Amino acid sequence: MTRSLASPNPKTIRRRLLGWYDRNGRALPWRYKPGSTPDPYRVWLSEIMLAQTTVATVKGYFDDFVGRWPTLEDLAAAGLDDVLHAWQGLGYYARARNLHQCARFLVAEKKGQFPNTEDGLRKLPGIGEYTAAAIAAIVFRRKTMPVEANIERVTARLYAVADPLPGGRKRIAELARGLASQTRPEDLPQAMMDLGATICRPKTADCGICPLSGECLAAKMGGAEGYPVKAPKKPRPVRHGMVFWARRGNGQVLLRKRPEKGLLGGMMEIPSTEWRDKKWNLREAAVAAPVTAAWRPLEGIVRHAFTHFHLELTVLTAEINNKEAHNSLWCLPSRFSEHALPTVMKKVAKHVTKHAAD
Ligand code: SF4
Repeated sequence: MTRSLASPNPKTIRRRLLGWYDRNGRALPWRYKPGSTPDPYRVWLSEIMLAQTTVATVKGYFDDFVGRWPTLEDLAAAGLDDVLHAWQGLGYYARARNLHQCARFLVAEKKGQFPNTEDGLRKLPGIGEYTAAAIAAIVFRRKTMPVEANIERVTARLYAVADPLPGGRKRIAELARGLASQTRPEDLPQAMMDLGATICRPKTADCGICPLSGECLAAKMGGAEGYPVKAPKKPRPVRHGMVFWARRGNGQVLLRKRPEKGLLGGMMEIPSTEWRDKKWNLREAAVAAPVTAAWRPLEGIVRHAFTHFHLELTVLTAEINNKEAHNSLWCLPSRFSEHALPTVMKKVAKHVTKHAAD
């Protein structure tokens, strides 16, 4: 932080930010009207969905979820497969499993009531530090600060924090917590998120119209977009796999359920080998096939990016004569949408449609 400029004043930041929020806050489906009581179920659901996904994507899913399951009790009574299916496309499926588990726990053990403290909330399945703080502030008006990407960015710029991420995260979170409001704890984080989403955006900081420009060190120093400072990224490793597109005479394709634990746990898949650093050859892959067949590789590669690695899949196809396979089902590709198939597997289906026709 520079010494020649005065440190930002949290009181002034709160006043200006909340004044701006009252005039410019976003209307979002999970937000309650001023003066009404927030519904913990809706806030919790939206926060779990938003944890790794953009507001634009979440809106449709949120409306769909509350349409199907309007209350916590409804969600608790739903089947896990239905929840996973509705979650399809949001990614990070462990969130959906935890969501369901948490709803069941609250209904069975807590009379459907959420704990009203950060500590209590953090003990629930799928609720980490951020989500606990968000629910505590927004629903129960606790003076705390949930630090997500928008709040992190705005704070790093306000204080021109020079420590690069991820190491600098702790310092930024401390500074953000120092901005929490005693009188409007529920509005302050939402105001910062809205400012970050609309004015203080990752690639463009519109300091000319920002209510905080008089306090912001990065704006005064220039180069606001350089904050938060990031350590150079390590390249993500590439993993390889082979997928088995087993087709019966009637056009049905073999699907199977992935193990409950681990990546894409509990989702359906087109059976595949393990995903590993080393490339597979046909002979090795045949050992991992769900059924014995004359597997033939399809031209091209299916690529998908996960958070920690890039995946490259080769598709093997074979015609199967009504053989049954363990823990699997047969399904027409036109009916894949009835199953909880993750995005990477939808890409495989698309790839086969394109290349098998060539
Ligand atoms: S003045 Fe600029 S950098 Fe500072 S908070 Fe506002 S938009 Fe962000």
